[in-house]
Amino acid sequence: MSTPSTPTPRFPEAKSIFVEGRYRKLVRDLPQTVFFCPKCKGRGGCEYCDGLGKLTKDSVQELIGRVANPRFKARRNKFHGAGREDMDVRMLGRGRPFVLELLKSKRHEVDLEEMASEINRRAENRMEVLGLKYCQNSRVAEIKERHCSKEYRARLDFPAETSLEEMEKKLQSLLVLGRLELQQRTPQRVAHRRGDLVRERGLEITAADQEADGLWVSLRADHGTYIKEFISSDDGRTVPSLAQLLETACTCGLLDVLEILDEGV
Ligand SMILES: [Zn+2]
Repeated sequence: MSTPSTPTPRFPEAKSIFVEGRYRKLVRDLPQTVFFCPKCKGRGGCEYCDGLGKLTKDSVQELIGRVANPRFKARRNKFHGAGREDMDVRMLGRGRPFVLELLKSKRHEVDLEEMASEINRRAENRMEVLGLKYCQNSRVAEIKERHCSKEYRARLDFPAETSLEEMEKKLQSLLVLGRLELQQRTPQRVAHRRGDLVRERGLEITAADQEADGLWVSLRADHGTYIKEFISSDDGRTVPSLAQLLETACTCGLLDVLEILDEGV
């Protein structure tokens, strides 16, 4: 005699599913999350954003969500990054940790390996995800609250008449300085959304190399250091700055995050 089994409900209860992993960003035109239009606030139908409601077609969040949402039968997701880089900054090395929260998912068991290869296939040469695994809600706060140092590489841009050989020599001479203690006043470019205050941060200049496209400097910096402003000085708001140490005007032309030093943190 067989016992009647409980029928599987056609639609299981919708709930949030959390998936964590790391992303690498290989291009300089991709924001981490949806870049809503500042004029129409995402409503769309304005000229500034060509009616899209956002300023870029894609973001890391959307490249992941377009594959993940349908698999989980989730309409929306929230993307929680362990910090973020500017849109024009590449995120290399082992990538940046994130948690993807799939809201009101009607499917709860998805093959994450298959999902990762589909995300990576569709975003090839732009972005990739690594090490996807299921996690608890509590991981969101954990990855956001962890403060890690980072390794960067930046190309320095100088006024046209500058001798790069001379600048490289000067940079090499700064390698012995070890850790520099910085006073960083909130950058002008973010002052409209962050409180204006002075932060103390530290960094170390670790290498200088001349490449075909210019002079590159490698840095290891505390969590929350503004690298572009350390290079330019941001009109004297970061002290000391690379411009000050090199005794010339200098800006950050290109920037890469090489590694987030989160092992054992
Ligand atoms: Zn708009």
